[in-house]
Amino acid sequence: MNILHLYPNQLNLNVMASRCTKTTNLEVHHMNKYGLNTLSNAKVLCHSCHVNTHTYGDPGHSATPFPQSVKDEAIKNAGNRCQCERDYCH
Ligand SMILES: [Zn+2]
Ligand SMILES: [Zn+2]
Repeated sequence: MNILHLYPNQLNLNVMASRCTKTTNLEVHHMNKYGLNTLSNAKVLCHSCHVNTHTYGDPGHSATPFPQSVKDEAIKNAGNRCQCERDYCH
């Protein structure tokens, strides 16, 4: 599959900023830690980006894990790459 064909704008974004676009060690982050375990609350981050979120691994702040089916769908929707929007994240 040609990923540039699916996401033509991604190329320009990558030239402008050093956004993480890793395609390995992908995990699914809760955008709202008190939110539901649904696709709308799921964000695909690689492990390094996930660790950089302030709620990661914080006892008492961790949400319940997403079901595997939601994880699979989120990663598929993300084009199998990290969706981090922070410049120079790690
Ligand atoms: Zn990342
Ligand atoms: Zn990141």
